[in-house]
Amino acid sequence: MTPLQLPLPEYYLLPLVLNLVVLTICGLYYSHKFGGTKASLTGQNIYRCSGCGHVYVDDRDVPLARCNRCGIMNEAVKR
Ligand SMILES: [Zn+2]
Repeated sequence: MTPLQLPLPEYYLLPLVLNLVVLTICGLYYSHKFGGTKASLTGQNIYRCSGCGHVYVDDRDVPLARCNRCGIMNEAVKR
């Protein structure tokens, strides 16, 4: 039996299942990736520069930190 001779439901089901598998793998990959990033940033403040948009971290417990690209002082967006 060639793949084109499969009954119609299987013929449509196979691409759907493959897509689900790929999406699941991508989801696991990205959740693992971002989970690891979050864990490694514990105890650090995250800053987003209002001048150039650069995102950076600073592990000092200060309300403002200087952007290392353009030198503007920014407030922490997440602690
Ligand atoms: Zn900046």
